[in-house]
Amino acid sequence: MNDFTDLIRAYALRNALDFGKVDAGRIVPKLFAHGLEKSALEEIMPVIMTIAREVNGLSVGAREHAFAPLASLIPEHVEKEKTLPLLPDARQGLVVTRLPPEPSKHLHVGHGLSFLLNAEYARSYGGKVILRLEDCNPEKCTQAYADSIIEDITEYLQIHLASISYVSDDMPRLLEYAEQLIQKSVAYLCFCSQEQMRDLRHAGKECACRTASVAKTLEHWKEFVKGTYGAGNAVLRHKGAMQSENHVMRDSVLWREVDAVHFRHKKQYRVWPMYDFYNAIEDSIAGVSHVLRSNEFHQRGELQQALRVALGLRQPTVVEYGRFSVAEKTTKGREIRELVESGAYIGWDDPRLVTLKALWRRGITKDVLIALMHQVGLKKAEVVFEFPMIAAVSRKLIDATTERFTFVPDPIEITVDGAPLDLTEIAFPLHPDRPETRTERITPGIVSLSAKDWDTYKGKEIRLVHGYNLQLHATTKEGTYTSLDNKALPKVTWVSTFALPARVFMDDGTWVEGKVFEDVASLKIGTVVQFERFGFCKLDKVLKKGTGQVYEFWFTHA
Ligand SMILES: [Zn+2]
Repeated sequence: MNDFTDLIRAYALRNALDFGKVDAGRIVPKLFAHGLEKSALEEIMPVIMTIAREVNGLSVGAREHAFAPLASLIPEHVEKEKTLPLLPDARQGLVVTRLPPEPSKHLHVGHGLSFLLNAEYARSYGGKVILRLEDCNPEKCTQAYADSIIEDITEYLQIHLASISYVSDDMPRLLEYAEQLIQKSVAYLCFCSQEQMRDLRHAGKECACRTASVAKTLEHWKEFVKGTYGAGNAVLRHKGAMQSENHVMRDSVLWREVDAVHFRHKKQYRVWPMYDFYNAIEDSIAGVSHVLRSNEFHQRGELQQALRVALGLRQPTVVEYGRFSVAEKTTKGREIRELVESGAYIGWDDPRLVTLKALWRRGITKDVLIALMHQVGLKKAEVVFEFPMIAAVSRKLIDATTERFTFVPDPIEITVDGAPLDLTEIAFPLHPDRPETRTERITPGIVSLSAKDWDTYKGKEIRLVHGYNLQLHATTKEGTYTSLDNKALPKVTWVSTFALPARVFMDDGTWVEGKVFEDVASLKIGTVVQFERFGFCKLDKVLKKGTGQVYEFWFTHA
């Protein structure tokens, strides 16, 4: 028993450090892995509970101190797989992270992983995660995109959000902060043309507008807010440092006028803040404790920090990680929009895309993305995803639980001479590791093979998967029954005359037509099955066609 006491204490401390408090349910399976007998569980439970109470009463520092000498008792790989690195300056219960998408496009796998990372950190510290829709570009943002994003986050990724807000609803406050910057002489109205300003910034020279007095700038600002100057004729700039190495510090634009109707506020506002302005302020005033962001935003950090210093706002802790990008697949909103609008792609869920909508519809579960998120964690280097990586993780997760099924593409009917007449149904295992079966009706002596299998095996002896052996004729669509013995023969998938029409939407955007065994009718929409010798597919919908039905699947992965 003594051995287990130390082990229990080690796991309880690790558990408390990772998740904020001890969950006895997580410790028990670990003890079994260390040889604890099930019969001893009753005896050991009170020990676990006592240690859990004791550990829960310790401060984070005391837990770390107590864990150090026991750490070696816990196998290293178990912890590495599941645990993200600790966040700096994080306090239990006080971690607030945020998801800041712009509702101007649909989310892709990179957003999904970054959002899951934020959600996981909030959860592991007993904190919260908020969704902030950064809708300050009235020309691009729409309610439809906002709704799609909320759906992806809450229904697909199943992230529990503490709140959902729109930056545009904060406009009165943001306008006040802009005025404060002017009063503090940290921002000015600039009337230079874009070309002039580009040259000045390049040369590291200040423009004449910068020297206007605070009083004059405030007058300009009031007119600017009303839209007096017209879009493109004036902007509010940060008074930065024109010789700064970091070009973001060379008087970046903070506000601009936009001549467009906003989807929430219609024509109420003529001027809109730029990313660095609203993002810096919102992170602070919304109580965000930790900003987790990819290091492509690194240059912007200095400006954001300067704005918060000028406004006397709290600085959140910034943690940077490498950019998540996707190889070979388009993730740019504009490119995708063109493909969708031209009809080349069926929509934002087209299987050639790696949008969350596409992954969801194909049957890639959120658990796959969570596993990927743990793999990449907070790596500093850029992480380039390819769909095969997603597929590999998914296959590992679902292979053991996904039911097997049969789909025959382009079926060709074969008459089998001498097939056992009493063979009118066959039991197919639901999974090679499970005892349950599904029973399919068959017509003795008639089977359908795929056109490809026919071409490959005509003239040869084959074995029908879970069926019998037959010798295929070389030319006519016929065969001769040979035996039931499970001999070493090419195994060919097949369906009976009772099979129903089905089609699979492949990941290259083409359809494969075929047939499935009739027990397909028992599958619920959304179920992923593995079609033997074909791949994993998700039942997307059942289409009515004449008097019958067509089962439509989406190809998940091989
Ligand atoms: Zn100027």
